[in-house]
Amino acid sequence: MEAVDRYSQIQDAWTYVHSDTKKAARISQEVLQDPQTSHDFLLQAQAKITLAFCHAYEGKNVEALNLVNHGLEQVRSEQSIEWIINANRVIGYVYSSLGDLKRSSDAFEEGLQLIKEYDLPIDPHYLNNLGFIYYELGEFKQAHEQLLEALAVAQEQNHDIVPLLLSNVADLHLQFDEVEEAENYNQQAFDILQTRVNDRSSLAHCHSIFGLISKHKGQWEDAYNSFTIALKMYQEQDAKYAEATILIDLGGLYFDQKNFDSSLTNYHQALEIAENLEAILLQQEILKKMSGVYYASHEFEKAYQFLLRFNDVNEQIKTKEVQDQISRYMTVAQVSQMQKDAEIERLKLKRESQEASIRAKVMEDSYQDLKTVSEIGRRIIANQENAEVMYSVYLDLNQLMEAHIFGLCLYNKETQEVEYRAFVEQGTLLSLSNKRIDDPTSLSVKCIRENNEIHIQRAILDKDYTIRDSVFPDYNPQSLHFLPLSMNDEAIGAMTVQSYESEAFSERQIEMLRLLALYISIAMSNILKSEQLQLQTRKLEELAKTDPLTSLYNMRHMKLLLAQSMETYYRSNKSFSILVIDLDHFKEINDSYGHSCGDHVLQALSQHFQAFVRQSDAIARWGGEEFLMLLTDTSLEDARLIGERLRKSIDDLAISYNTISINVTATIGVATYSAKDWHVDELIERADKALYIGKEAGRNQVVTYRSE
Ligand code: GH3
Ligand code: MG
Ligand code: MG
Repeated sequence: MEAVDRYSQIQDAWTYVHSDTKKAARISQEVLQDPQTSHDFLLQAQAKITLAFCHAYEGKNVEALNLVNHGLEQVRSEQSIEWIINANRVIGYVYSSLGDLKRSSDAFEEGLQLIKEYDLPIDPHYLNNLGFIYYELGEFKQAHEQLLEALAVAQEQNHDIVPLLLSNVADLHLQFDEVEEAENYNQQAFDILQTRVNDRSSLAHCHSIFGLISKHKGQWEDAYNSFTIALKMYQEQDAKYAEATILIDLGGLYFDQKNFDSSLTNYHQALEIAENLEAILLQQEILKKMSGVYYASHEFEKAYQFLLRFNDVNEQIKTKEVQDQISRYMTVAQVSQMQKDAEIERLKLKRESQEASIRAKVMEDSYQDLKTVSEIGRRIIANQENAEVMYSVYLDLNQLMEAHIFGLCLYNKETQEVEYRAFVEQGTLLSLSNKRIDDPTSLSVKCIRENNEIHIQRAILDKDYTIRDSVFPDYNPQSLHFLPLSMNDEAIGAMTVQSYESEAFSERQIEMLRLLALYISIAMSNILKSEQLQLQTRKLEELAKTDPLTSLYNMRHMKLLLAQSMETYYRSNKSFSILVIDLDHFKEINDSYGHSCGDHVLQALSQHFQAFVRQSDAIARWGGEEFLMLLTDTSLEDARLIGERLRKSIDDLAISYNTISINVTATIGVATYSAKDWHVDELIERADKALYIGKEAGRNQVVTYRSE
């Protein structure tokens, strides 16, 4: 084909690169492959620039940049101003879709500069593109001015781009929330396009803007319908890039309605197109949006995967040959890459450990609380029970939770009573009276009796709750928790923590209380054990000094008391006396009524002796039916008088056994300690002698022994 024809072909192709991109691309490729024109560098350059624009429209930015830069070099050397301007338009377009708005505007500026310099008619596409840059920069006011200028120029030239510009102005008004103006401008675009048949692309764009307007107004169905019309039109024209952008709009529409499935379906379709077009920025935009959908639907794994894919697309950009040309873009991309990395990291963390980190936080808190609890527990166990320790437990407890009341009580099985060992309210240690284990009103008692926790979150609403009498009548606990202190499945006491606030304690804090109750249980059971041990020891000691039949002191213990009295005598010269009491003819009682009757008589008499004896004195069973009474600080004469009173009281005593009444008498020997006695046995011997004399003299009498 003739070069001249080829020139006009390319000139034509350039004009419909917008409306029939495929045809323009085919023509340009034919020219480039035509061996007849392979040496016509200007033609080659024009074909390259035109084809570059086609690539750019399809989103093949890298190829576009390669071609246009080659073309620009040639048209510069040929001084073809018109094509330098065209090349700058392509470059500006490519950089804007790559996101390098500085380079983009530089290219457009150069083109505009030349247009002015050579007084060429302004291509409104230029102004539209500049407007787009401002738009992308978020400088909507300047974008608006540019578009209005472009519109004025285009309208003067009656340019095809007029409806496109009207729609774009409408889009801008939408950014200003000026819905009415937006509708107005877009309607103008629509009216013009109704009169045309061939500009389907602008009509589709117009519909898509109607969609955005409806979306803005919250009219989802209208928006959906407009987007669908635009989509169909773009599909008919095989305008893949535009189709993808509408699918993104639809995806966004569904996302806003929280219809994540449909949103993803549209994004997936858009992504497929973008991948086929190798439209990297578009892919990125979609991948990021998809990641957002997955994130919103809490599919963090998927969200992360899509961010990784987003990242991979960035990597692709890096490995392309055109690193030189897009180095500036790279810098921009790398900066945002860091932000993206951070975001990926954040998402990754979220995905892997969102729950885990919450758990970790809870565990960390719990660990600290556990430490406090176990420290409290250890201290309780170490210090045993002590009101001050319990008070410090209360203080420590308040580090874990705000407890207005803390109480501890133990169940005394023997007395059937619940004893409060500690009760702190508002920082004051109070003493509470014991409660009977069958007390129906006490929750502590109930907790022990049933060996079960009691939790009341809102006292006012609780059926178990009864108004208490307290030293703080103006305050009423609303949260009441009772935990049994138990040992071997048996409740030994209860712990209570209360607050004036309702629902004051969390499940975790109650968990802490359970642990604390465990420690206190151990401590308390130790306390109970040691108390029982003390009691047992005391009992054993008691046993060791008492006679089992009569519960009077035994001979061994009486000897100890006698020795003590001797010491007292030497210290304070206080004399003391003894009475040795032997029952008269006791054998006969055994013989007449049986041995157990004899035992009964011995026990009855012992009770009588115990009632008779003074506080300072002591009585012991000395032998079978023999007793010894120690009279401290008592002279021989006084002792004789006491002996006489005792004798008479025995004589007067009627002991009933079954149906019979038994009378016994006793003979009593009296002796007083003298400094001459080397040993108490000498004293006892004297009393025995006196007793013997009494027996001999007819029994039932008191005999004093005077040492010569
Ligand atoms: P008396 O002292 O007046 O001379 O006459 P008696 O019958 O009390 O004689 P004696 O003191 O010699 O005997 C003590 C009796 O007391 C012998 C025994 O049957 C009785 N006896 C001693 N210890 C017990 C005891 O623990 N239980 C009973 N049922 N009888 C005892
Ligand atoms: Mg005797
Ligand atoms: Mg006797």
